[in-house]
Amino acid sequence: MKFGGTSLADAQRIAGVCKIVGSRSGDEVVVVVSALAGVTDMLFSQAQKISEGKLTEEEIKSFISELFERHRVVARELLSEKDLELVLMELERFSLELEKILIGIRYVGELTPRSTAYVVSFGERLSAPIVSGALNTCGVKSVWFTGYDAGIITDSRYEKASPIWESTMQTVKQRLENLLKDSVPVVTGFISGDTLGRITTLGRGGSDYTAAIVGAAIDAEEVWIWTDVDGIMTTDPRLVSEAQTIPVISYIEAMELAFFGGKVLHPKSIEPAMEKGVPVRVKNTFNPDGPGTLIVKDQEKAREVVKAVSVMTHATLVTISGVGMIGVPGVAAKTFSALAEEKINILMISQGSSEANISIVIESQDLDKAINIVTEKFADRDIVRRVDYNNDVAIIAVIGAGMKGTKGVAARLFTSVSKADVNVLMIAQGSSEVNISCVVEEKDAKKAAQALHHEFITKKA
Ligand code: ADP
Ligand code: ASP
Ligand code: MG
Repeated sequence: MKFGGTSLADAQRIAGVCKIVGSRSGDEVVVVVSALAGVTDMLFSQAQKISEGKLTEEEIKSFISELFERHRVVARELLSEKDLELVLMELERFSLELEKILIGIRYVGELTPRSTAYVVSFGERLSAPIVSGALNTCGVKSVWFTGYDAGIITDSRYEKASPIWESTMQTVKQRLENLLKDSVPVVTGFISGDTLGRITTLGRGGSDYTAAIVGAAIDAEEVWIWTDVDGIMTTDPRLVSEAQTIPVISYIEAMELAFFGGKVLHPKSIEPAMEKGVPVRVKNTFNPDGPGTLIVKDQEKAREVVKAVSVMTHATLVTISGVGMIGVPGVAAKTFSALAEEKINILMISQGSSEANISIVIESQDLDKAINIVTEKFADRDIVRRVDYNNDVAIIAVIGAGMKGTKGVAARLFTSVSKADVNVLMIAQGSSEVNISCVVEEKDAKKAAQALHHEFITKKA
């Protein structure tokens, strides 16, 4: 079995956390942790396979023993004997719990959103006690909580839950405020609970969001997101080698970047900070002295027109068409409310001027639900004749507050993408004028991102 990381890298990262927290001894600090590298992905994929009957009971047990051994190795590396004993006991308890659930899923042959959230919650439920134990070992008094125990209460959309804002703000403050005075609470990122205490998760990458929620609740001075790159970059460094770190970015730009696929931040993680005006810093655990990126309200004198190019893959372009749509009011509204009913996130919208079609972009995972609901709502076929889709597309967005009032950005975007021999399937500008986004075939995403990054960012440097 191959995880995305090694115990040594995990231990180094946690030792880094202890060093960072230790160096802030005069401050009140809450630590929000994510799972060890690759663990959440692995839990997702194993749960899926198990529900399809692809793993025997023996294989499930061996997966669990490997997963826990990786955590034990990290704990043994970092914790004193006394702290280790306690953590190993907790790990043992979780190991039995996970085994029961996974074997249950195998027998039932079904994986629901609720059981998925339960299974993947183990990533953070295993890392948090180790981080908390490591802090205790290095002399920082610490206790750990699940997000739910820390007070994050959500609706029951198990895999992409939204916090119930007022009660979450109050409960988190109540639970953490006093503890903060003489200890460092460690809170599991990503996982939360609904009003009945059933485990929910905040969506992939949700630890950033947990940190922002906790920061807002306790009126933090700053929220720091620690990751594995030197901050928010001008584009995904895995796709474009010319990517550079952005020193300062505004909330709205960071939000757009995250919304359109900048994996470095969870899209919702800026909102709570923005509401309370809390600055957010994104820094590299492996280079803690580097300046990272500072996210603030407004950036004065931003020189760049385009600050970043983001790439979102796994998107689907759905086109709803029919000449009967011409001049009929409310087709778009009916479509959007149908999709909203199914809680489908619409990423982009465009309507041809003839009104004979509407194109929308959604996440590929929502395609079946979207097609079903749209065909159901327009079942008489008088208005909508066809629903077509292309499920291998990507959205490339150029982002920058400096685009507001700057002419010719869309023209430059078109020219440079077409020079790279990439066909643009759809284009849209956000009303905030902070982004212009286009849809291309997924196979062309890298080429388009490279061309746009070169045109708007590298050439300027
Ligand atoms: P973590 O586990 O620290 O939360 P993530 O994998 O969620 O890390 O996010 C960090 C990764 O996001 C980086 O390693 C990088 O490959 C990718 N990434 C995509 N777009 C950007 C961007 N604009 N700036 C920085 N990193 C980005
Ligand atoms: N572990 C979760 C995930 O992989 C949350 C996070 O990393 O922020 O999505
Ligand atoms: Mg992340």
